[in-house]
Amino acid sequence: MKVLLLRFGELYLKGNNRNVFEMGLINNIKEMLAGEDFKFSKTFGRYIISNYKDEREKEIVAKLKRVFGLHSFSKAEEVESNAEAITGEVLKTSVEGKSFKVIVKRADKSFPVSSMDFAARLGGELLKKYPSSKVDLYNPEVEVNVDIRVNGRAYIYTFSIKCQGGLPLKSAGKGLLLLSGGIDSPVAGYLMGKRGLALEAVHFHSYPYTSERAKEKVISLAKILSGYVGQIKLHVISFTKIQEAIHVHCKPEYMITIMRRIMMRIAEKLCQKNELGAIVTGESLGQVASQTMQSMTVTGSIVDVLPVFRPCIAMDKEEIMDVARAIDTYETSILPYEDCCTVFLPKNPVIKPTIEKAEKEEAHLDIDALVEEALKGEKLIIIK
Ligand code: ATP
Ligand code: MG
Repeated sequence: MKVLLLRFGELYLKGNNRNVFEMGLINNIKEMLAGEDFKFSKTFGRYIISNYKDEREKEIVAKLKRVFGLHSFSKAEEVESNAEAITGEVLKTSVEGKSFKVIVKRADKSFPVSSMDFAARLGGELLKKYPSSKVDLYNPEVEVNVDIRVNGRAYIYTFSIKCQGGLPLKSAGKGLLLLSGGIDSPVAGYLMGKRGLALEAVHFHSYPYTSERAKEKVISLAKILSGYVGQIKLHVISFTKIQEAIHVHCKPEYMITIMRRIMMRIAEKLCQKNELGAIVTGESLGQVASQTMQSMTVTGSIVDVLPVFRPCIAMDKEEIMDVARAIDTYETSILPYEDCCTVFLPKNPVIKPTIEKAEKEEAHLDIDALVEEALKGEKLIIIK
């Protein structure tokens, strides 16, 4: 029987929590495959997807590749784990004219032949059936794998498809992603999702200074991201009044610092209201003036209790772009629509702001009222 044989990664490290993690992972797999016909089963150390429609295989494979916590999977033939059935199946793998290697894994130690001996025996049978083939243990053209599991079944396959790795989504709780239309923040969301953090997102727009299309772009990015992290509640907040007030009342070089601090205030409030346990940004150290250590001190100091996760902090732009391409957000991120941060942009933003000076500038504003009004105008979009 044709199946997909799934392996999970880091769950192995989880000791007593392992069951909880596994249940989370299984749920996530089923959610990802919702709408597909398939049968799910498990045996120690592996999950098995079977009875799916051939014509849906491509989509199922694409979906499984996006499940965080899965390490890899293989298209495999499942047979009864006895030497005869396994040999019969292995011999169907044509290695004519090719170099090959047989690898036997034996989770089921009651299988009567040792892995090494059985691999050698299967290799011999293959050589007999395909006389122009040869064994190459170091650089084979074909790797014939036999995985003997404790469910009385063996799985024969020739290659594996790599998944994302990481931890099952939701196993780390839920956070709030500050999602701009840029390259970095969707990558930040993906990276945190990969560590098990489910996400809601907040986007600040400055309509009419920023266009409707800029907002549509963010919705598209959230949609692509949701292919990995599942449903995203996107909180859309108008930042126009706040920016106008800062523009009028605060020193231009502190404009971005104050904007960021107000974004953080609003983010923190959204977290409290929606029971979210962390704030996520796409900041990368030194990338721009607002991402120096001092800037992050001044903006981060707004947030009292919650951690602020900045998974791109140590990544070069090139590395961030590589991830963006791999997760398919790049082409959307580079569409040339303005972000609210580009509106009223000062020529010389401060590179080393201080909390005292930021507070002095903020004293010109009625921040509580501005924050409250912005939150009142919140629009919620469910992205799936
Ligand atoms: P990105 O590519 O994610 O836009 P960036 O390099 O343009 O990042 P900044 O504009 O300095 O960097 O923004 C830093 C971080 O602040 C972003 O990664 C994002 O998390 C958050 N942010 C910036 N603008 C917005 C916005 N309009 N709405 C929500 N979050 C934002
Ligand atoms: Mg940006």
